[in-house]
This record gives sequence, structure tokens and C-alpha cells, in this order.
Amino acid sequence: MNYTSKQSTTWDSTAIQELVSSQRRFFAGGHSKDLKFRKAQLLKLKKMLIEHEDAIIEVLHNDLGKHEFEAYATEIGFVLVEIDKTLAKLSKWAKPKKVKTPPFLYVATSSVQAEPYGNILIIAPWNYPVQLMIAPLIGAIAAGNTAILKPSEFAVHTSALLAKLLNTTFDANYIKVVEGAVEETQALLQEKFDYIFFTGSTKVGNIVYRAAAKHLTPVTLELGGKSPCIVDHDVQLDYTAKRIIWGKFINVGQTCIAPDYLLVDQKIMPTLIEKMQFYIHQFFGEDPQQSDALGRIINKRHFDRLIAYLEEGTIIEGGQHDREDRYIAPTLMVDFSDQAKIMQEEIFGPILPIIPYGNIKEALDLINQGEKPLALYLFTKNKNKVDMVLNQTSAGGVTINDTLMHITNAALPFGGVGASGIGAYHGQHTFDLFSHKKSVLHRSFLIEEPIRYAPYKLKRNWLRKIMDWTL
Ligand code: NAD
Repeated sequence: MNYTSKQSTTWDSTAIQELVSSQRRFFAGGHSKDLKFRKAQLLKLKKMLIEHEDAIIEVLHNDLGKHEFEAYATEIGFVLVEIDKTLAKLSKWAKPKKVKTPPFLYVATSSVQAEPYGNILIIAPWNYPVQLMIAPLIGAIAAGNTAILKPSEFAVHTSALLAKLLNTTFDANYIKVVEGAVEETQALLQEKFDYIFFTGSTKVGNIVYRAAAKHLTPVTLELGGKSPCIVDHDVQLDYTAKRIIWGKFINVGQTCIAPDYLLVDQKIMPTLIEKMQFYIHQFFGEDPQQSDALGRIINKRHFDRLIAYLEEGTIIEGGQHDREDRYIAPTLMVDFSDQAKIMQEEIFGPILPIIPYGNIKEALDLINQGEKPLALYLFTKNKNKVDMVLNQTSAGGVTINDTLMHITNAALPFGGVGASGIGAYHGQHTFDLFSHKKSVLHRSFLIEEPIRYAPYKLKRNWLRKIMDWTL
């Protein structure tokens, strides 16, 4: 099937203004706030994903060469679990939460009510094009908002399919996919939204943040960066090697939380490298280009960017590439300078630089010279080193003795810090993110406290006593 047919609507600024206005009117009508409506829309979304599972797998394969196992685990299954959890808990999350009322306010009740922000803009990247557009959408629906979704133009087939499916499943006044590239995104960013959820690079995150500031629009920025992985000398080497190779080469390294580079205790570096080479061959065979488990680089521009890194050090595994096939073999590299681009830029591909250290302090110094990473990995059996790394570094999220897996626990908020992002989501955190927490104090007419009204005269001493008493 071909999903690349040109979109029927041309999204110039007039069409975008009309769409935003129609969603604004729809939200003002109050339909999206109704809890039954929200649940029904989540069920519609679930049905759409289940009915079109094969087509989604096909487009993910066309864009990124993803194996159906990976497509289900990291995209379709991932969001179906999020929908089910949200449906099971939504009534509870949406209920006003009673909080304490201090005695001086009696008779009164206090509560915090989750209300939808209103009209949401979700901008997605290309690397997990289904998960990273649908997971925020689940929260936007659950919290009672409308949404405009802008998929990445680089995941051409997935963008076209998601536009077709979502735009036929939902009313455009409520949820609408706007396909396009920089120009269309810039036109969207001119409009006033009530919340913007952006996933992508730190550079574009900066552009989005500035556009949002013009309207004082709150944002979540899910960005990238260089996520380090430290390996201590006392680890279970076999599991360590296997877990690193899996986390680095899933989606051919095009994962925002992939281990970007390894910092390895020099005592075990040769053995760890041998084991990692063993697992590369075990997972992808002697010629990884023939393996259906290894995906492809998204486009030739990114391919060229990645190939340039191969010149910057010594390749000890992989390095083979084929531009026409957008293929780069899983590659391990050593011996490069700190100034090399591979150590300055987010790699976002199947190349893993390995740096030895003599003392873990050296590893921490190197990490702390850079921006705060989205993820940090530490392999060790030493509890003191766990505490040391947690206390002396800052990162969006951490997995100890594995890679990527903190993203799979929806109880853990997922997001960055500093240059790797603002805000966090998943599970209830997504619902909370798309809900304004409105404070409500409800007083009665039973009692009146005359002290606060003028004339004040000598009431100050009374006031002091009352305030001491209520603290
Ligand atoms: P990107 O920033 O280039 O693009 C993201 C979105 O922004 C796309 O929809 C694109 O059309 C739009 N865009 C691009 N340039 C723009 C501009 N000048 N003005 C307005 N909009 C623009 O990112 P990408 O290449 O799609 O994704 C890769 C990056 O995303 C990596 O840095 C990766 O780490 C990060 N990422 C982060 C997460 C996370 O959860 N934190 C997840 C996936 C990817």
C-alpha cells in the first residue's frame, strides 16, 4: 500500500488559523470535558490502532526498517498499554482532590480540580513516530483538551498514514493532524495555543520555546543530548554487554535515550569489548545488512552526518555502510579527541564511542562538563558508586544495570532536565501535564470573622495571636 499520497489540504497560515479557531470554538462548547466523551475517544483511538496494526507496522518498516517486533514493542504496544492504563484510572485522576483547610478559614472546604488547558499543539519527531505522537495525544484527550498534531515530515509514510487514520477517526474540530515541515510548523507556532508539547532536538526546542513565550503558552519540551553509560569493573559482564548492545542498536541507535557513549573502567575494557562484539554478531549475524532485526537510517542527510564520525577515531567493530540502502553496521569506536564532533554532538545512530577511565571520578568530570543528559546509565554492583553517581550528576532519568528500561515504567515521569528538556510524562504524569490544577476554596455563610475588616484600630495583637494559633 502507498501512504505517501500528497495531503489533500495545503496548510498555509489562513487554513491553520481557521483550524485553530474551529478547535477553540469546539472546546468552548464543553464537549471535550465530559468524562464519558473522553473515555469514548480513547476507545476510538484504541480501536483505530488495533484495526490498523499491520498497516502501521508496514509504514514503520518503510520509514525506518523496523522489525514488526520492535514496531509493536516500542510503538503500537507501548501506546495501547498507555490507553488501557488511562482508561482504568481516568475517573480517579479526574476527581477533585480534597486538601486540608486551616482553622481560620472555617467553615470551608478546599480542593484541587484538574481542568483541561484547552487547545493543544503536539509536535512529533521521526524516530518513534507513532509512540511520540500518540502517547501525548492520550493525555491530551484524557484531560479533556482538543489537539492539533504535527508529525515529522521525515517519517514520510508514517506521517501520511497517521494523518489518514486520525483525520478519519476524529472530527477536525477536536483532533486534527497537520502534515508538513518547517514552514507549516512555523505557521502553527504563530497561533496561540493553551499548551505546546514538543519532542525533538534541543535546537528546535529553543525555537518552539521562544514562539510559545510570545503567548505565554506553557510547554513541555522533550529534547535530546548525549546520554552517557558508565561501566564499573565489578559488573556481570555478559549481561552488561548484552544490555548495552540492545539499548544502543535498537532502532539503529536513533533513540533519544540510547547510550550515546560508554565510559568504561580500563581494567575491564578489553573483555567488555569482546563481549559486545559477540552480542553484535549474535543479534545481527555475520553480515548485519542481511539482518531483519536491524533498521535503517531515516534519510541520506542523517546517513552522511553519521558517516563523517567514522573518520574521527579507530573503528574496532563494524563501520561498513551503504548509502543507497541507508545502512550502517553496528559500530564500536575508540581513540578520538575530546574535541571530535562525535564527542560534542548527539550521535543518534549506530556508532558507539568507548572511552576508558582509571577512576570513576574522571568519568563524572567528563559528564559534568557537558549539558545535563536526558538519560544516564550506570553498571555497577557497588552501592556507594550508585549513590555517588546519583548525587554528583543530573539527568532526566537513570537506569542502573540496564539501558532504556526506565522509560517502560509509567510510574516514573519521563523527561529531561536543562538542555535535555522541560516537563515529564507517561501514565498519570501525562494526564497531570495536560491538566491545569485549579485551586478551589469554598466558604459558607455560617460564620463571619470581623477582624479582617477596617477600621483596624488595635487589632494587630489579636491578629498575631490568631496567626500564632493557626500555624
Ligand atoms: P527536530 O527537532 O529536527 O524535529 C522535530 C519536529 O520539529 C518535526 O516535526 C519537525 O518538522 C519540526 N521542525 C524541525 N525544524 C523546525 C524549525 N526550524 N521550526 C519549527 N519546527 C521545526 O528533531 P528530529 O530530528 O525529528 O528528532 C531527533 C531529535 O529529537 C533528537 O535530538 C532526539 O534526541 C530528540 N528526541 C527526544 C525525545 C524525548 O522523548 N526526549 C524523543 C525522541 C527524539
